[in-house]
Amino acid sequence: MGAVNGTAGALGVLRTEAGAPPLALPRAGERERTAAQAGVVTSTLSKVIAWSRYSSLWPANFGLACCAIEMMATAASRYDLARFGAEVFRASPRQADLMIVSGRVSQKMAPVLRQIYDQMPGPKWVISMGACASCGGIFNNYAIVQGVDKVVPVDVYIPGCPPRPEALLDSVLKLQKKIAAEPAYLQK
Ligand code: SF4
Repeated sequence: MGAVNGTAGALGVLRTEAGAPPLALPRAGERERTAAQAGVVTSTLSKVIAWSRYSSLWPANFGLACCAIEMMATAASRYDLARFGAEVFRASPRQADLMIVSGRVSQKMAPVLRQIYDQMPGPKWVISMGACASCGGIFNNYAIVQGVDKVVPVDVYIPGCPPRPEALLDSVLKLQKKIAAEPAYLQK
């Protein structure tokens, strides 16, 4: 995979094209608010599709190691991932569009992980959670894949061992900004 480029925050790194402008979620302005009060809503199909995508991310329900405990905490009431529309963890990859790779990926698990990714309908996105998933972490040995981006394309990397739930929340927000900037006809 290529180098990690783009918006670097305090908690996570968003993979975008080099030199791209900062990403931001679309917000309603004064003109939109006035129109809405008059009962009129105007937009483009592309914006509506992007809005529906980033507002309803459904993660695949699986975890690989200790990072998965932090992922579970993120979905629980204290951190409340539901605030960002991404709390519906699906047991079937066919109902998921977000893969959170939470933990080290063993060589034995890599083809299974790839199969789950392939079974997810597109468009789909991947968050690499923690040092182990992103680069092997402390497990620099033959049994562990040295970066899950060798197996699936990664959209957002989260550093740390383990990353706290706030870091995962931050990565979901970064991913939402990326999705908002993607074209509606995206095939991935
Ligand atoms: S990054 Fe740390 S917490 Fe996460 S799977 Fe690796 S060792 Fe466990």
